[in-house]
Amino acid sequence: MSDQPHACQLAADATTIIVPVCAQRTVCYQFDTSATNPDLELPYTVIVDGTVLSPDKPRRLNKASRKISVIVSAGSSVALYLNSDVHPAHRRTPVYAVEVKEHDVVVNITEKTGKTHNAKPVVGEAQTQAPNQPGSPPVDRYEALLTGDIWMAISHRYTEAEANDLLPDDIEPAIRKAVCGIYRGLSAGKLDIPLMDEGGMLCVSLIKQENPHNNITSCSFLSDVLPRTHPLTFAALFSVARKAGITELHITSFWRPSLGSIVHRAGLGLDVDFLTNTQQKVKINRAGLNDKGPSHNPNVSDKEKALHQQHQEKKAMARQHKKDPGATQASDIARVAWEKELQANEPSLMQQMRESLAKHKLVRQILDPWYIALQPGARHSNEQQSGEEKVHANHLHITVREPKIYE
Ligand SMILES: [Zn+2]
Repeated sequence: MSDQPHACQLAADATTIIVPVCAQRTVCYQFDTSATNPDLELPYTVIVDGTVLSPDKPRRLNKASRKISVIVSAGSSVALYLNSDVHPAHRRTPVYAVEVKEHDVVVNITEKTGKTHNAKPVVGEAQTQAPNQPGSPPVDRYEALLTGDIWMAISHRYTEAEANDLLPDDIEPAIRKAVCGIYRGLSAGKLDIPLMDEGGMLCVSLIKQENPHNNITSCSFLSDVLPRTHPLTFAALFSVARKAGITELHITSFWRPSLGSIVHRAGLGLDVDFLTNTQQKVKINRAGLNDKGPSHNPNVSDKEKALHQQHQEKKAMARQHKKDPGATQASDIARVAWEKELQANEPSLMQQMRESLAKHKLVRQILDPWYIALQPGARHSNEQQSGEEKVHANHLHITVREPKIYE
């Protein structure tokens, strides 16, 4: 497509517009998601005249440009599949459809939070904008919203049959039964899964989160939120928890429309803030690592806080004196000392859970108050410095693999 010249162009004498028989137009969707996350990597595919453009695989909205731009023949219709609706087996809700007429098209899509006015994923009436410069063509400009209601429409709701098909053949029958139950419809946010031995139970609390209900006109936790969460998220978590003999597990976030990274909106993430087995209780929380004064968090010792503080100071020095190898070395030594203390105080159940998740074939990302692993096999200690690190100071997050939605 990029090899073709723009079909509608200005002649060299700047007086004549040359319009080929098959005139081409640019359609540009421009997203503003700054209401929740300015560089949200929304998965998309483009539909032209009812057919998804090839190669048929999900793309991600560019973090910087925020644009989806295509060149099509005049008279075409263009629309988008967004979010988990990009999966070839989903694709129920094409959105922001436009009919391309004699002008290029710009569609501005602005995200809004709150229960916003029953907005539909349509573009409305065009405002034809006069040329910015003499000789440049006019543009048909549309305005549209991206609201919680629309997020719900572009987020696939899995059925029990789909969940059953998506689960790996070798999944334990007790877990298959529990996961399928979520999509059949629960009567409360509780699941009891038999443990492997001793007749114990893994009691899972599925805790309602506010975000969907604050941003969607009408939304049920049990029948809208939970089934928009990918079945493999539950399967991976329950499988690992059951192997670790966990008796109580609190899941605090699932699919959600208007907050944070794309993986929760695409239904590929879960958050956990509490686990316990017969020996240990773990509140997955290390908030306060950077606070002044003594620690009030049992997962952060005073010694660790002091070592962490030293590391931050040495790291700042090393940044200021980039050419001084001594400063870098001092920063590295301080980091090792801090990380040793961080590791020494980590509850063994948490370590076991993370190691087991890291080996699990369905799991792609693990972010928690101790470590951040955005890719399998690559992790760094959570210093609670970056936004991502701070957000994960008080829970464990997992993302599952689903390359047909987001990878
Ligand atoms: Zn999360």
